[in-house]
Amino acid sequence: MDKYGLMGHPVQHSISPMIHDAFAAQTRQKMSYEKWDIEPKTFVNAVKQFQKEGGKGLNITLPFKVKAFQLASALSDTAKECGAVNTLMFTDDGGIFGDNTDGPGLIQDLVHNHLYTLRQKKILVIGAGGAAREILPALLKQEPASLVLSNRNLEKAEALRKGLLIKRGVDVKSFGDLGQDSFDLIINASSAGITGPFPKLSGHLIHSGTWCYDLVYNPKLDSFLKWAEAFQPQKCLNGLGMLLEQAALSFYLWRGIAPKTAPLLEQLQNGDYRESTALL
Ligand code: NDP
Repeated sequence: MDKYGLMGHPVQHSISPMIHDAFAAQTRQKMSYEKWDIEPKTFVNAVKQFQKEGGKGLNITLPFKVKAFQLASALSDTAKECGAVNTLMFTDDGGIFGDNTDGPGLIQDLVHNHLYTLRQKKILVIGAGGAAREILPALLKQEPASLVLSNRNLEKAEALRKGLLIKRGVDVKSFGDLGQDSFDLIINASSAGITGPFPKLSGHLIHSGTWCYDLVYNPKLDSFLKWAEAFQPQKCLNGLGMLLEQAALSFYLWRGIAPKTAPLLEQLQNGDYRESTALL
């Protein structure tokens, strides 16, 4: 039985074990997947211990994605572009390969599941934390017409832009400077909803063809989508699709087989997910 898991702090809300168990059953892989809440000071030791015990791979979540980036002995281009790792794979020669599937997971959900074209679109990303840092390079690769990054704390957005490997095309604006602009796609990469209400931004940001995508995937914490719906965008999506797609990409890296995400998405949206939201 090959061992995998998730390390973060906290992790009790995570439904990753349920997702990977479902993928393993679907693709008939003999593997286990657990989650561990790791004290920040012990993260590096915990990863090395897991590797020593024969562990094959890990997902990494808050607050360890940058530490995992530093710990990896080899990195994918995607991980290099965002400076953070959400997937580790332990190689037979004792190496630690670091990848990041969050940005590609978002693209997979938007472009492949929802047939949305990002090329030449005007995109607004709200929030300048770890998630924004992970999705910006992936969005830029899709060649949008423009990409505005806006955050409550403007300095943090400017620092995020400065730290990106590819920053050309990212325009930082304060909430106040968004003015009368409207966007084709608005992505909430902030933790508004979890930490407090979504800010009362102008409805001018939304036009009749706008798509609104919330990285937050708990339907009970839909403060951004509630704000958006009031201005009648074309489509509102939450981050459950991205969550499944980033997990499927990690699974593919580890096992070399791509699980189907649609059946699990439907199952989660229709029934089981309501039960699992108790964990979120
Ligand atoms: P961070 O803590 O790194 O960043 C949080 C960001 O949200 C900051 O920019 C912060 O602004 C902003 N923020 C927090 N509260 C508010 C508020 N009330 N109003 C406006 N802005 C606010 O978090 P992450 O970037 O790691 O995660 C952000 C969200 O994305 C989380 O909800 C997470 O669950 C989700 N996520 C979903 C994924 C998926 O697969 N669907 C994958 C990864 C993340 P400031 O700088 O001003 O404090």
